[in-house]
Amino acid sequence: MSTTPRAARHIVQNEELLFEISEPGKAAYQLPELDVPPANVAALGERARSDIAGFPELSEIEIIRHFTRLSTWNYGVDTGLYPLGSCTMKYNPRVNEFVARLDAIAGAHPLQPEELSQGALRIMDLLSQYLLEICGMDAITLQPAAGAQGELTGILLIRAALQARGNARRLVLIPDSAHGTNPATAAIAGYEIAKLSSNAQGTVDMASLDRLMTDQVAALMLTNPNTLGIFEEDIHRIADLVHQRGGFLYMDGANMNALVGRARPGDFGVDVMHLNLHKTFSTPHGGGGPGSGPVAVKAELEPFLPTPVLTRRPNGALTLEEDRPHSIGRMRAFAGSFGMLVRALAYIMANGSDGLKQTTEDAVLNANYIRTRLKDVYALSYDTPTMHECVFSDKLQARKADVHTGDIAKRLIDYGFHPYTVSFPLIAPGAMMIEPTESASKRELDEFIAALRAIAQEVDTEPETVKTAPHTTRVSRMDEVAAARKPRLRWTED
Ligand SMILES: *Cc1c(COP(=O)(O)O)cnc(C)c1O
Repeated sequence: MSTTPRAARHIVQNEELLFEISEPGKAAYQLPELDVPPANVAALGERARSDIAGFPELSEIEIIRHFTRLSTWNYGVDTGLYPLGSCTMKYNPRVNEFVARLDAIAGAHPLQPEELSQGALRIMDLLSQYLLEICGMDAITLQPAAGAQGELTGILLIRAALQARGNARRLVLIPDSAHGTNPATAAIAGYEIAKLSSNAQGTVDMASLDRLMTDQVAALMLTNPNTLGIFEEDIHRIADLVHQRGGFLYMDGANMNALVGRARPGDFGVDVMHLNLHKTFSTPHGGGGPGSGPVAVKAELEPFLPTPVLTRRPNGALTLEEDRPHSIGRMRAFAGSFGMLVRALAYIMANGSDGLKQTTEDAVLNANYIRTRLKDVYALSYDTPTMHECVFSDKLQARKADVHTGDIAKRLIDYGFHPYTVSFPLIAPGAMMIEPTESASKRELDEFIAALRAIAQEVDTEPETVKTAPHTTRVSRMDEVAAARKPRLRWTED
């Protein structure tokens, strides 16, 4: 392993805002003489705005340099390991981008006639078939914009199915290890939340489930593997119990990177689940860009899927069917995040079934490598073998030197790594949640492990260095409370 530290000094210029370097009269474009009649702005009446002055005026190269310099302040999946637990920050293969940018695909319009859209519909159909095979489910919608919207879609489907049976029920059961979006989803869908405590192994406590699973419970929302990275080994018994009492089993499939090609939720009793294409299937995420959260269901829930539903006409042509009397309605415009569907399909086809299985195995191997190489210096929140991620706690460091998970995360930046996820899941106090994904090489994992071990040593010898990190970045600690409570998102002169 290389002994050269990853982080080093590098020229980073101070950057003024575009507003501050603006000079009147500069422009980054040149237009030919106007040779058509000018627009009749007066016709807009009151709606003609006159208050949009004050845009910065700059030349093209000034703009390019400004944004290029800013981009070098950033850290992304293309820069290095991005071990943000639960987020599956894997590499976005360039073949996905190549395919998504092909003229016929990038230029397709959602209002194009059906007979000219057969190729685009075929992409959706193929992806649907592959995802159903991977999940072991019967039907799917590709519409939801992200995991959270997939959850909402799934719970609305359950609600509709229960209503069709005569009683929508009142409660949704959610383990205390769940992602925050799960209770938010259930509440928005009109359900009350009943919290299910985890047992000492960090998994569902069967006795509590037995007690809470009444005839008022519409669904159990379960993440598997859960947010501690632990596979719910009782999953068959859990599913049986939920079904016996007339409820549905919803699986938050954000952690499918631990299962693809190895186990299928449909086979272990799941009725509805969402996938995060922007996690497991390598479409880009972060920065507020479009995600994609398809929802796969068992046959009983199929009649309620959002419209339109992709089907075939008697002549074999693909079509988007609107006439679905039991549908919960539309969740998103057009066909969802079509560009993400293309990328996910490219990823699946480029990997093939053997490649997808290998990906899963590598992701699990990488996480367990980190877990076993660090467990003598950081306390494990739960000492249960994990799948694609592992969760340590800051217990030892907090006790020794009052150093917390956030401090260690910030110090990792000085070693050249993106921090792990801090303080989540909530059932693991002082959580340090690490998900390397399959994208990391052994060499990079070893460097990451060496960095975390060095920081553990610093906690003993120079804890102040850790508590005041990062030291190598342009700005050190920010006032995170002020940033969250009083964000200043707009430039003003004062
Ligand atoms: C990421 C994630 C979600 C939410 O997905 P979004 O696409 O961010 O809306 C839900 N549950 C778990 C476990 C996750 O990791």
